[in-house]
Amino acid sequence: MEFKCSMPTDIYFGEDVILKNKELISSIGRKALIVTGRSSAKKNGSYDDVKKALSEVNVDYVLFDEVEENPSLETVEKGSHIGKVNNVDFVIGIGGGSPMDAAKAIAVFIKNPEINKENIFSSGKLDSIPVVAVPTTAGTGSEVTPYSIVTSNQEKTKKNLGQIIFPKVAFIDVKYTFDLPYDITVNTAIDAFTHLVEGYLNTNSSYMSDIYGEKGFELFKYCFEKLIIKDLSREFRENVMMASVMGGIQIAQNGTSLPHGMGYPLTYFKGLPHGLANGVLTIEYLKSFKDKTKINRMLNLLGVSDLGELETIFNSLIDVRLYITEEEINEYSRSFISNKAKLKNHPEEVAFDDIVRIYKNSLLKDN
Ligand code: NAP
Ligand code: ZN
Repeated sequence: MEFKCSMPTDIYFGEDVILKNKELISSIGRKALIVTGRSSAKKNGSYDDVKKALSEVNVDYVLFDEVEENPSLETVEKGSHIGKVNNVDFVIGIGGGSPMDAAKAIAVFIKNPEINKENIFSSGKLDSIPVVAVPTTAGTGSEVTPYSIVTSNQEKTKKNLGQIIFPKVAFIDVKYTFDLPYDITVNTAIDAFTHLVEGYLNTNSSYMSDIYGEKGFELFKYCFEKLIIKDLSREFRENVMMASVMGGIQIAQNGTSLPHGMGYPLTYFKGLPHGLANGVLTIEYLKSFKDKTKINRMLNLLGVSDLGELETIFNSLIDVRLYITEEEINEYSRSFISNKAKLKNHPEEVAFDDIVRIYKNSLLKDN
């Protein structure tokens, strides 16, 4: 047996974790750049808790609250400019994956003033100033991954920044997710599930990473049941957040594979939220496997008898209808097949035609 497993992020999970561990924040830096989306952090209590904790330990801060969904490099540049002129020495990302990923990218840009949106992808390995992550969706797991997914308008796609930016600390308090609307709850939960699936059915999967995957599937047995009946209790919020953290830890080791790579153009060109973009492709991706051994183990943990039953669960949770042509599918497939990083994470051989088939069977069902 051989594996490497690394989780450098200190994870604090529980009620009021930020206030209970405020001293920790003062050991990280003297002045923070708080990075959020446009409004949710101010409504769900997370921003207030961070402000209170900072003021109680005399740490100064400035706020950058302009992160959009699927953050662009332009936004990262804007946020890092604010951080630089205010001499911040760490970044606190509060929100869903978008503000947390933007916070990570901003932390790299602040540490390396010569870096900009033109040269970031050709810059080699870079350090960042420390990042603290506070998730307010249960989905991306970004609080425990080294990835920062940004939108490059120049390349007309979403892509990983290419740097390793594990948050120093993740403060996870599910109370921030209590008022998350049902549709965002579903989309983000599906994202967490696809992390578990793609991390589990992965060339890099190991005995150690499978522990996270399998525990995550066990949690999803419960979460799918509750999502279907719309019973979003505190217990549900805790379980789905734990599943999201498990998925994050797993993809931090193994990476994602086909649905994530294939989903990026569906988000960039068709505006599909990230979780839905992966989710709509997942069942056909699973069907494409020749070796179903691990899929069967996963289905068993999920408490379903076959892929058809999982498909029924997916169909009851997501209903994606988008206008897409065969030409577009061919174009996305050509672009994906050149994405060697994602392809090498998939444990079976796949050709251009396989990718086209997954897209078509997933998206042209009704045509
Ligand atoms: P998001 O894009 O961060 O946020 C989606 C929406 O949810 C926004 O309108 C946001 O509002 C709102 N929202 C967030 N928290 C809320 C709350 N507690 N209550 C009510 N509304 C809330 O969504 P996400 O799915 O979490 O993140 C997606 C991004 O993460 C994508 O860019 C994806 O590529 C990336 N991602 C990264 C990783 C990684 O490892 N780094 C993994 C998977 C996905 P505001 O804008 O007002 O905050
Ligand atoms: Zn994802």
